[in-house]
Amino acid sequence: MKKVDVLIVGGGPAGSTCAYELAGKGLKVLVVDTKKKIGTPVQCAEFVPIQLTHTFGEFFPEKAISQRVYRMVHYTPWGEVVSMCSDGYVLNREVFDHHIAYLASKKGVEIMLRTRFLGFEDGVAWIENIENRKRMPVSARFVVGADGPKSKVAKLTGEHTENFLTTSQVTMPLCKNIEDLLIYFRDYIPGGYGWVFPKGKVANVGVGIDTAYNLKVTESLKMFMMELIRDGVVEEMVLKRTGGWIPADGLLAPIRGNVLLVGDAGGFCHPITGGGIANAVLSGSMAGKAILKEKPEEFEEEAIDVFESTLRRASEKRKRYMKSWDNLKEIIPKTWIAFEEYWRII
Ligand SMILES: Cc1cc2nc3c(=O)[nH]c(=O)nc-3n(C[C@H](O)[C@H](O)[C@H](O)COP(=O)(O)OP(=O)(O)OC[C@H]3O[C@@H](n4cnc5c(N)ncnc54)[C@H](O)[C@@H]3O)c2cc1C
Repeated sequence: MKKVDVLIVGGGPAGSTCAYELAGKGLKVLVVDTKKKIGTPVQCAEFVPIQLTHTFGEFFPEKAISQRVYRMVHYTPWGEVVSMCSDGYVLNREVFDHHIAYLASKKGVEIMLRTRFLGFEDGVAWIENIENRKRMPVSARFVVGADGPKSKVAKLTGEHTENFLTTSQVTMPLCKNIEDLLIYFRDYIPGGYGWVFPKGKVANVGVGIDTAYNLKVTESLKMFMMELIRDGVVEEMVLKRTGGWIPADGLLAPIRGNVLLVGDAGGFCHPITGGGIANAVLSGSMAGKAILKEKPEEFEEEAIDVFESTLRRASEKRKRYMKSWDNLKEIIPKTWIAFEEYWRII
């Protein structure tokens, strides 16, 4: 049996940040991830707020940054264009994610790729090498669930996310460079929105829709692409495709005995905007620091203190207003952060 102090399931920004905090402090730390290479493939529109670079500057080598942006410009179905400050970067996430894991491994963290967490048996975690199907028990004093929106660790230890946004994204050439993040609210993107996030000459173009609606997300994306091509925003060419799930229930119980949940696995992603990178890094860091003190309860306290009210407001709004998508002029100002009503009306 392999014995470690901390087993981290998932090497995305949440798991790798947790590993980074724990690294070089005399603990045996093991990260397992099903991927061949941390960070690849990217399933993200890649925007992070500038504040994250102030706290975690070492996570942002030059190559991790694709474009600086300053504003988010919203196109409403009733013709109003609303702009808000949104200072940050559109990343190259494959570089960003990989770099955090590299920093952790440089300080002694063991990373096992192509390795799947299977479950627990008698307090021991089981992992499997995906290539040769060899299984191995791992005994760990702490287990960190950083295994993303459909977290197995969360599912096996209690409360887990049940409501999601489903997304579909393509990378397309821009007709001309843009400096802002563009957000579109449309009747054919129910319970969500469309985005154009620029990366120099190309952009991540995607839609996220609430799974409550009976519409294929790829159909919604097709309509969005047609609108953008017609309006001369992007050229008719697809360079890459991706997609994924966004957890929409808000914060779950962050600790379950010796198991801590971070990032999307713990519901730290924003249930309306879908922004989850910064919260993944922050929650991973908080969990790592609490484990170092042997006080996981401090992670729970801090997570609730910092995130709960914001995430609860968003998940409540999703439940209350976003399950019907017919009076958009009323619904959108109540449910999107750029509008004063979002903050005024619960
Ligand atoms: C289309 C799309 C666009 C998005 N755009 C943005 C954006 O612009 N800005 C933003 O802030 N957020 C965005 N998000 C959300 C953001 O991507 C997530 O919040 C973020 O990746 C969460 O990080 P994480 O480390 O918690 O999980 P993940 O990045 O999902 O990492 C989880 C890791 O766990 C591994 N794993 C899963 N199961 C197992 C298992 N059983 N065993 C071993 N390993 C396992 C996976 O391989 C993966 O590497 C977007 C999401 C999607 C789907």
